Amino acid sequence: MNEQKNDQGAEHVQRLTEYIKPYIEKKKQWQPDLSHLDLKATLLKNLGGTEKDWTSWQWQMAHRLTTIDLIADLFNLTEVEKQEIESVTLHHRMALSPFLAAHLASMESPLAKQFLPSVLELKHFCDGEPDPMNEGHMSPVPHITRRYPDRVILKVTNVCGSYCRFCQRRRDHGSTDHHIPKKELEPAFEYIAQHEEIRDVLITGGDPLTLTNEHLEFIFEKLRQISHVELIRIGTRMPVVIPQRVDSGLTELIKKYAPIYINLHVNHYMEISPEMKSACHELLMSGAVLGSQSVLLRGINDSDDVLRYLFQSLLAIGIRPYYLFHAKDISGTAHFRTSVAKGVQHIKSLRGFTSGLAIPSYVVNMPGGLGKVPLLPQTYLSSLEDDPILFQTWENKTVSYPNKTLSSEVITDD
Ligand code: SF4
Repeated sequence: MNEQKNDQGAEHVQRLTEYIKPYIEKKKQWQPDLSHLDLKATLLKNLGGTEKDWTSWQWQMAHRLTTIDLIADLFNLTEVEKQEIESVTLHHRMALSPFLAAHLASMESPLAKQFLPSVLELKHFCDGEPDPMNEGHMSPVPHITRRYPDRVILKVTNVCGSYCRFCQRRRDHGSTDHHIPKKELEPAFEYIAQHEEIRDVLITGGDPLTLTNEHLEFIFEKLRQISHVELIRIGTRMPVVIPQRVDSGLTELIKKYAPIYINLHVNHYMEISPEMKSACHELLMSGAVLGSQSVLLRGINDSDDVLRYLFQSLLAIGIRPYYLFHAKDISGTAHFRTSVAKGVQHIKSLRGFTSGLAIPSYVVNMPGGLGKVPLLPQTYLSSLEDDPILFQTWENKTVSYPNKTLSSEVITDD
């Protein structure tokens, strides 16, 4: 009997090992690509910067690449390719930090596809909506969006360290950078103060970490003065695109106004550079609570293994994957969208195959700003009222589960 049990145990372990082998092999090929070190030297030379400049987030911001010229030289683009990209930027501007440009690796890399303009944007210009979330109509006062009962979004800038081509707020990017002046934010703080039910404020933009520490402190201080605001959250991509942004001034602020919840936007493991890791470490050491949100993007991260590696890599550096968003129906971004069925399949591929902590909620945002709908793979095959209920396990085994509960008359105090 014991021998039989041992055999079964060995078979079980063998099966588990077989499941994970192909992924382990694939992961080995995804080791860090250091080719960006060459590009960094070329970029510094072309931008007239020094090694010290490279470490300054203000220098990175001031030297964002807003035309394709330098990228065209770095990656030997043809004149036609260059002109195509230029025609897209007439409709929607580009900006790429030198740090990010140095990490692009190639024109086909997951980073290039997310940040460099593509002619497909013009092809799909009339598909989708400029504001599918209807934020324009959910704003009781300027710079506030209110979609749920107890929380609001506070938009403090239209500026980002680099512009993602699929951004849900690309309509706000415009042609110039604009941080909302402190005075102009006052009605937003008054609104929050007058509504005691608002306990959670998500500071977003653009990217709020493009503001100076002094401007950020003004916002934190205002919010901490409102006693019913329990949660201050920041949505940012700066640790990915300009990790230099996490300076000692910022970490001091995070300590002073703790707890600050920071939700990073990360879509591919290639975004997790050594500098990004170190920035996140500083944020963690300052007491920030880190989570991530990702967007499911066709041809970039719509692969079971890429997502698994992304979420595991985030968790390994202290960032809890929070949301995987289905890409929204935004004008000019149809080429980034996958099917919802594929999104659910990706989540199914993670269940059981990695830690639950590494699995975010897959959500579809309803049009018109009607909120998020989380989607889970089907895990029960009969009615939950049945006895037994038929469940499906992560290995696709069907299991009959007794649905026994005591009726309330049977439960007594004695
Ligand atoms: S960083 Fe965020 S706000 Fe800025 S372009 Fe990317 S997705 Fe949009």
